[in-house]
Amino acid sequence: MNAPGEYEAVIGLEVHAQLLTETKLFCGCATSFGAEPNTRVCPVCLGLPGALPALNQRAVELAVRACLALGGEVQLSSVFARKQYFYADLPKGYQLSQHDRPLSLGGGIDFSVDGAPRRAPLTRIHLEEDAGKSVHGAQGQSLVDLNRAGTPLIEIVTEPALGSSVEAAAALRELRSILLTLEVNDGRMAEGSLRCDANVSVRPVGSTELGTRSELKNLNSMRFVQRAIDVEIARQVQVLRAGGRVVQETRAFDPETGTTRSLRGKEESHDYRYFADPDLPPLVLTAAGLAAAREALPALPSEVRARWQREHGLSRQASETLSAHPALIGFFEAALAAAPSVAVKLANFILTEVLRGAAEQGLSMSFRVTPAQVADLVLAVEARQVSGKQAKEIFQVLEADEAGQSVAQVIAARGLRLVADDGALSALVAEVLAAHPSQVAAYRKGNHAVLGYLVGQLMRRSSGQADPRRASELLKAALESETGS
Ligand code: ADP
Ligand code: MG
Ligand code: ZN
Repeated sequence: MNAPGEYEAVIGLEVHAQLLTETKLFCGCATSFGAEPNTRVCPVCLGLPGALPALNQRAVELAVRACLALGGEVQLSSVFARKQYFYADLPKGYQLSQHDRPLSLGGGIDFSVDGAPRRAPLTRIHLEEDAGKSVHGAQGQSLVDLNRAGTPLIEIVTEPALGSSVEAAAALRELRSILLTLEVNDGRMAEGSLRCDANVSVRPVGSTELGTRSELKNLNSMRFVQRAIDVEIARQVQVLRAGGRVVQETRAFDPETGTTRSLRGKEESHDYRYFADPDLPPLVLTAAGLAAAREALPALPSEVRARWQREHGLSRQASETLSAHPALIGFFEAALAAAPSVAVKLANFILTEVLRGAAEQGLSMSFRVTPAQVADLVLAVEARQVSGKQAKEIFQVLEADEAGQSVAQVIAARGLRLVADDGALSALVAEVLAAHPSQVAAYRKGNHAVLGYLVGQLMRRSSGQADPRRASELLKAALESETGS
């Protein structure tokens, strides 16, 4: 939603994505989720005196992959700085983060809103380590788990260039698909491995200056990102309309109340006293290394979508949904390889039937059927072996079936077949016409809507096994020929 009437919204996103490495950014501790608190720690990530950091090359590789895919200008030399502040979950007293010499400058996220192309230009992408986690107990006690301290992150910062909550959410969705496809991040917003802060300001329509922004935290789902931005835009507009001024502050979104509340103002913001970490040399990359990394990039969701539309006639919407997750891309591509002649029907079948039973688990997705089964099923409909309705029934059998039966086996076991030969169908047509003289008369007086009813009767007589398309054709021919008109 745009700011109503005389105001327009401006939004910039700061996205933190955990890199899918086995170990932390500057030590060998495992990054695994859900371990017993404080069991994945060592002198380096605990900040014990004398411990020295060593940069994780795998993290650099993943970060570079993301920068290249997003069109960033990767810097041959970047620098880790100490960002100093005091907090219980930050054992060293500083966070290592690239500050004035980030890994990558520029680039952008290309996405679309209702088919219209949009771009969120990027300011920068940099590498940094995550902090630990504070867990607040019911009796007011605070506990600290340092397993997450030192986990590698990239921060992706957009320019203040998005105009609505819908654009912001669409940009974030595209970014998520890209990071998943690159196998850089697992996209889990609820678990915090992908986190988004939204900076929101409003200004009078036509103004070229930016308004004062607030920064929204705690947006742990796509839906919350969109809702929080909307309520924040509305709040700021209301403040301005009442003659007030928006103050620069950090605000938290509360999904329970659907409101945002102030966490801290600008006055309380930290002076981080950044300086280059003396224990870490600059991160140096080579042009040849970057060229090789660029060469190794997988096809991005936007490229896959474009190819499906161009070569297989898929609609924009179908291709957008099917390319949102790499596992879904893989599923559709596998089905497509088995039945390329029915691409659009495959896509529709997957969107309407298969997706309902699919469950996303980070980078992977579980499906209750195989791409080959879906291909066989759609091909059986195409060959008029079974009707569309029967195909859905067969699909339900396949979904519930543990034995991994083939489509042909289910068709045989259930005695399903489509009666499509004219001889058998004509006999049914004659039966139906004889049994429903008043509808026949109505049709012949011009009420052609009763044809549907008669087709339904024929289907019943055939126990659902008649080919409805051919049956309808034959019924129509019979009704029209015998009137002599
Ligand atoms: P920080 O939040 O660390 O102070 P910046 O000032 O660079 O960093 O801003 C970070 C984010 O805030 C960026 O995503 C940027 O696009 C966004 N932003 C900056 N100014 C505004 C504004 N007036 N309105 C909306 N977003 C803004
Ligand atoms: Mg910020
Ligand atoms: Zn460690």
